[in-house]
Amino acid sequence: MTREPPAAADPRRSLPSISQLASQLAAERPETPAWAATEAARRVVAAARESLGRGLEADAATVDPADWVSRAAVVAQQLARTHPRRVINATGVVLHTNLGRSPIPQGAANAARDVAEAYSDLELDLATGRRGSRLGALEGKLVELSGAEAAYACNNNAAAVMLGLDSLARGREVIVSRGELVEIGGSFRVPDIMERAGVRLVEVGTTNRTHPRDYEGAITQETALLLKVHRSNFSQAGFVAEVGLDELVAIGARHGLPVMEDLGSGTLVDLVPHGFPADSFVPSRLRAGPDLVCFSGDKLLGGPQAGILLGRSAVIDRVRENPLARALRLDKMSLAALDWVLDAYLAGRAETDIPVVRQLLETPASLERRARALAAQLDAALAAVMSELGIETAVEADRAPVGGGSLPGFELETRVVAVRGVGEGSAFRATRAAAVLREASTPVLTRVRDDALVFDLRTLDDDAAMQLAKTVAEVAGRWRPEPTIS
Ligand SMILES: *Cc1c(COP(=O)(O)O)cnc(C)c1O
Repeated sequence: MTREPPAAADPRRSLPSISQLASQLAAERPETPAWAATEAARRVVAAARESLGRGLEADAATVDPADWVSRAAVVAQQLARTHPRRVINATGVVLHTNLGRSPIPQGAANAARDVAEAYSDLELDLATGRRGSRLGALEGKLVELSGAEAAYACNNNAAAVMLGLDSLARGREVIVSRGELVEIGGSFRVPDIMERAGVRLVEVGTTNRTHPRDYEGAITQETALLLKVHRSNFSQAGFVAEVGLDELVAIGARHGLPVMEDLGSGTLVDLVPHGFPADSFVPSRLRAGPDLVCFSGDKLLGGPQAGILLGRSAVIDRVRENPLARALRLDKMSLAALDWVLDAYLAGRAETDIPVVRQLLETPASLERRARALAAQLDAALAAVMSELGIETAVEADRAPVGGGSLPGFELETRVVAVRGVGEGSAFRATRAAAVLREASTPVLTRVRDDALVFDLRTLDDDAAMQLAKTVAEVAGRWRPEPTIS
């Protein structure tokens, strides 16, 4: 038995026309770009047609015409939103990959804007009027800061790894410990990148233990390189053994093989005296004698996205002359920003002028003082809803990771302002409050812990803290529970 819907009653006929809906939207919300109004109208009508066709909605004619416009307005706003846009990071995670990793110093951003808005001497030697080196100044500064013989910079560290492998070992074997075949996230896996770089991976050792004899036993005529990879996002404890960089360099020297280290996240100020783990300070890695070390510009260094390669002159020359280098090169804005950041290191201003370094080194006492100030600002911002929702603020000690594939297993002592409901009757829900904050005009990202909203001062400078309090004042009314439909 088949059922034919009566043709005359096809509810899809009652749908508004796309062009009418688009022009109504444009008339009522003149800030909507024309393309977004048309596309939003198309999507809203298509979605309604689909649900009518599946019998999910009874009749489009019963929809209030104003409703069509507001449905389309929501879609148009999402379509036309600029991306990425500025957010407030209250998570305390200094290198948050989803939040763009390192915020660059204002001076570095200005330097980038300067060369972006106008012409520059990017590849011109002003003294001679002839073609000049794109990276010349930067290479000299990197050499000065690190003690390396030579330096090169490219688009990011994944590109630096590719360049290093391709330049030193294309078509040949590269030996890596099984304990270092890491996945960084965002699809960067060491075995995959090696395959793409055209080198053959020779794994040695086991997941937890690799010994010098494992490397020695795997070396053949085909071996071109010994590679060490930093375990950026996990740590191993227990029955473990790893061949240190200095031991690997000694093995390389005995067999006439170069050694490369993918450090992932490198620093140019020694953080060890400040209680950080020992393995991220670039000059001390280089003192162990590897031929090539590479790391990211936007992790612990605190600069723009970039990949930095440091090593012996002969090796860097091969990298520089590699045809892939052109495809992976650094753009002029990142170059200008990185140059500014290196100047700050050279002038000894990193701890004050580079946000990542400043945040990492802020003491609990300073965080505590600023947390008290933020708590007072939040009390004022929340005054209108505080008793209604039954909430209180408190300054508390907490711990947070550094994030961004840096210093795995290491946490910094920090101070937070916690906002939580008091008593059984509190209508405050931290996850709802966090969701409302994410959709504020300046979105705020927070941690939620034990049904408390937690604002971590480490990633909030004074301006961001003030903006945060303002945003909370704007949106706290929407922290009220959503009305339940009865
Ligand atoms: C982060 C990381 C990379 C990738 O660096 P990007 O700058 O993100 O390209 C490569 N290797 C290691 C060990 C890392 O930690």
